[in-house]
Amino acid sequence: MYSIQSHDPRHPANLICSLSNQFFHKEWCLGTGGAMSIEDETSNCIYVTPSGVQKELMKPKDLYVLTKGKEKNQYDPVYTPPLKISDCSPLFLACHEHKQAKAVIHTHSQNAVLITLLYDKEFNISNMEQIKAMPSGAVDSTTGKQINLSFHDNLCIPIIDNKPHEHDLLESLEKVFNEYPNACAVLVRRHGLFVWGPTVDKAKIYNESIDYLLGLAIKMDQLNIPM
Ligand SMILES: [Zn+2]
Repeated sequence: MYSIQSHDPRHPANLICSLSNQFFHKEWCLGTGGAMSIEDETSNCIYVTPSGVQKELMKPKDLYVLTKGKEKNQYDPVYTPPLKISDCSPLFLACHEHKQAKAVIHTHSQNAVLITLLYDKEFNISNMEQIKAMPSGAVDSTTGKQINLSFHDNLCIPIIDNKPHEHDLLESLEKVFNEYPNACAVLVRRHGLFVWGPTVDKAKIYNESIDYLLGLAIKMDQLNIPM
């Protein structure tokens, strides 16, 4: 059974609010931009941010709570605030459904927007220590744990073109799932970044690491330092 109010700071509704506040202060989610969803393993419900709410002021009662419906790709709201659901919700649900994501973070980070003006179809980076925080897509057969990239490995983030409405990006996102099965993120040109992970903490770590690497790449470009 879902709940919207909890004293547990790790409750999905509280996590979305505290992370949204953090991301606002990092200037990743200004002016109501950005969005987030978290799948709660206990209730199997997905918590999704509403549209048009200032991220630093968001409250648990503002969030939508969805549960899986009978049909494939169908999700029914079990808690509906008097607000519109994020236009990103079809993209979030696709990440939960097809990538087994437990959390999806969408920001309008300036680093993410700028990098899509420097690169065309993909952003690639290697030989950077922070890459080691990113997943390779491979899993250790004995421990079952995911293997991260090594220093010399290449991190590839696909870039898709923006559309007038965020939900229109679904087709391009599904294409990314097929063409880049190991990707845990996608950049949207002149728009921002979507990152998904197998836990909320992992999604947060990936999001921070990617933004850091994008920032480095932009500065290297400004200083004419080759990648
Ligand atoms: Zn957006």
